[in-house]
Amino acid sequence: MPLDLSRREFLQAGAAVAVAPTIILPQGVKPVVISSGNGNQFKNGGTETCVARAFRLMTSGTDVLESLIAGVNIVELDPLDTSVGYGGLPNAHGIVQLDSCCMHGPKKWAGGVASIEGVRTPSKVAYIVASSTDHHLLVGKGAKDFARNMGLEIEADLNTERSRAAWLEWMRRTDPGHYLDPNKRGDGLEATLQMSREGWIDPEHVWGTINCNGINPKGEVAGVTTTSGLAFKIPGRVGDSPILGAGLYVDNAVGAAGSTGRGEANLYNLCSYLVVEEMRRGKSPKDAGMEALKRVAANTVEKRLLNERGRPAFGLNFYVLDAKGRHAGVAMQGGAKYAVCDENGPRLENCEALFA
Ligand code: ASP
Repeated sequence: MPLDLSRREFLQAGAAVAVAPTIILPQGVKPVVISSGNGNQFKNGGTETCVARAFRLMTSGTDVLESLIAGVNIVELDPLDTSVGYGGLPNAHGIVQLDSCCMHGPKKWAGGVASIEGVRTPSKVAYIVASSTDHHLLVGKGAKDFARNMGLEIEADLNTERSRAAWLEWMRRTDPGHYLDPNKRGDGLEATLQMSREGWIDPEHVWGTINCNGINPKGEVAGVTTTSGLAFKIPGRVGDSPILGAGLYVDNAVGAAGSTGRGEANLYNLCSYLVVEEMRRGKSPKDAGMEALKRVAANTVEKRLLNERGRPAFGLNFYVLDAKGRHAGVAMQGGAKYAVCDENGPRLENCEALFA
């Protein structure tokens, strides 16, 4: 499996962990890895976060996309992040279904999986779709069978005690809320949001995903997005995360963008593609990201999705990187942060908010 680093490679690369040497290319490219905030939070019992591992690997010679996937694997495997991979909150039937996609800038590879069950690390399957098939997206049972055939371990159940308890509580409280009355179009999420206010679900993980993008010392750009999607979704629901152009888009000559937050809002507007195209037209990462948020806001008209000020009531963030290594996080709502790792080490930075 190309993604499995040998222990020796891992240790060799580890020599540069905390602060890798500053590598600035003649064209002014500075290697950097950015991600959603959980990319500098979860360590799965180890010592490194996602952005730290990805940056260490990509500045030590590992392929740019393989580095990013090794990074997000930490978050996928960590049961404490209930929005990604193992321990991700299940769908309405109590089954964990995961989505992921990835893109390799210079190789022009892309691959994704949607509604895959039984594999803790859907990003690895997305990578194998990209590297080893003629296709870009596999879904459901086909994706699981493909993963098995490619040698990945398939597990009967990816729930943890915590995710199952939250699901049971949700089932006890609701069901009708999930299927909207077409006449009322009420807020089907209310039970879930109330449970998050009561501490059943991390407020960050009602939605929740990791998107991670990076540029290596050679100026090669890649990205990966991986998620368990919306908590307690209708089985089979697929959000933006595995959809190229929505949850992620990469163009090696321009940059990368990826998302977390309300997938439906992003799917409607195909924002990651929009962000990259805005950068192609000359916008900075921040301005390109803000343009996408404005587009989403303009296309959000249903009352159930608006707050008392008539603005989108949901969260939606974009993590944007250009081909020179400049980056930004932008968010529909204030207070969001994104993770960064460059020669100054891993940290969180503030996202620019459309509505403070
Ligand atoms: N965007 C993901 C989805 O809608 C979830 C999230 O990032 O919060 O499936």
